Amino acid sequence: MDARKLWLTVLGELETTISPAQFKTWFQHTSILSIDNGRVVIAVKNIFARRWLKEKYQSLIIDSLERTLGLPVVGIEYKVAAPSSAASISATSAQPGVAQPQQLQTPAVQSVSRQQTRTSNTVTAATRSGSPQLNPRYTFENFIVGDSNELAYAAAQTVSRYPGEKYNPLFFYGGVGLGKTHLMHAVGNEITRRDPSKKVRYVTSEQFTREFLDVLQTKKTRAFSDLYRGLDVLIVDDIQFLGNKEKTQEEFFHTFNTLHQENKQIIMSSDKPPKAIPQLEDRLRSRFEMGMTADVQRPDLETRAAIIRRKASAEGNDLPLELVEYLARHYQQNIRELEGALTHLIAYCELRGIQPSISIAQGLIGSHSSTSRRRSLTPKSILEKTAMYFHLSPTDLTGARRDKEIALARQVAMYLIRTELNASFPKIALALGKKDHTTAIHSVKKIEKLVESDNDLRADINQLRERITM
Ligand code: ADP
Ligand code: MG
Repeated sequence: MDARKLWLTVLGELETTISPAQFKTWFQHTSILSIDNGRVVIAVKNIFARRWLKEKYQSLIIDSLERTLGLPVVGIEYKVAAPSSAASISATSAQPGVAQPQQLQTPAVQSVSRQQTRTSNTVTAATRSGSPQLNPRYTFENFIVGDSNELAYAAAQTVSRYPGEKYNPLFFYGGVGLGKTHLMHAVGNEITRRDPSKKVRYVTSEQFTREFLDVLQTKKTRAFSDLYRGLDVLIVDDIQFLGNKEKTQEEFFHTFNTLHQENKQIIMSSDKPPKAIPQLEDRLRSRFEMGMTADVQRPDLETRAAIIRRKASAEGNDLPLELVEYLARHYQQNIRELEGALTHLIAYCELRGIQPSISIAQGLIGSHSSTSRRRSLTPKSILEKTAMYFHLSPTDLTGARRDKEIALARQVAMYLIRTELNASFPKIALALGKKDHTTAIHSVKKIEKLVESDNDLRADINQLRERITM
């Protein structure tokens, strides 16, 4: 096992023991830099993550490392490192079976791994339950029910009690971050809790597609259909991604029919109802509508507040009521974002030893909304603001006049489009109405050089940057 695989296994374990929001906040972009004689160096993205992993998760990390390695960990160190392409592992792709493009192997790691491969495999297998794809943290108990999701919740409950008998298939649809995945895992978890012999499999439609395409290449079609057609419960998340994948749709159609005929439960989710999924075969569409379709809507204020209270107290925090309301008012669209904000707030306060309050939340949300403002940055808006700053009009900058001031403003605009948006030179040229992108290259280089030596220009550019992102 190389360092990358080792860390993926550890992440896989951690993901099932801590909350998804915590996991994402602290473990995304972490990796193992080196292992040497039981000393492990972990790369983290910033000092907060370093402190947090050390103070909160050290023992969990060590436990998991030791279990996976089969060796004692004598020392652990966290290094702040920019997520280099070679070493970093994105937490969201730390799922079993997801191929990682990069390999990270130091000699020390190799020597550990050769002795330990067998131990670690058995341990990993043993820690996995019958349905390794299910996240045990997504349960009915910690799902808050409100008007927005009560139909979906009731259907999910029924299906978990009578799999294959009541609503088959069960189809959830609704916007991002509203609890569809959570509900589907909850059904799977409840079914296996009631009857551990039930074979439940959770996949995303992308995973299903990938597995199917792999199978076509390796010609192990038998194993694939045995796996899928032998299930008691099949859960497919984000089925909209099957749209326009003809071969996979065909395979899914047969899988669906086999399972359905044998009264095996099928549960699916999508961001839209079956009839609105583009490029989905009609025969699949009509099958998806055969059982029960239930929508999940945006939760109302009360439900959002209840979710916040629940999440905070699960982490040992009782937030003041007005703070709960404040957060609930600010995050209306997406519960995942709400959770992220809450985790951020709690972490921020714990690290500083202060009590969460509205004014702190305001500060943090302020920086959040400025990042969303950043997303609306375009070459055009940069051009306009630069022109305004220099008391010129945008057409001055896109025009052909070569006066000194105009030329400089034009170059600054190109420089900012480059540095703020990381735009390509042809794109920069296009924004300035120029055909030839060598001018853009030349301009960006020139300003890059000038800001080194020219303090006034540097001050101008800093001010402009602030206005651009305002
Ligand atoms: P979707 O699959 O609809 O995009 P998820 O199921 O991934 O959304 O939900 C996003 C996050 O919000 C998850 O962490 C989930 O636990 C949480 N969440 C969503 N709805 C609820 C709810 N009603 N009660 C508690 N947590 C919720
Ligand atoms: Mg989902």
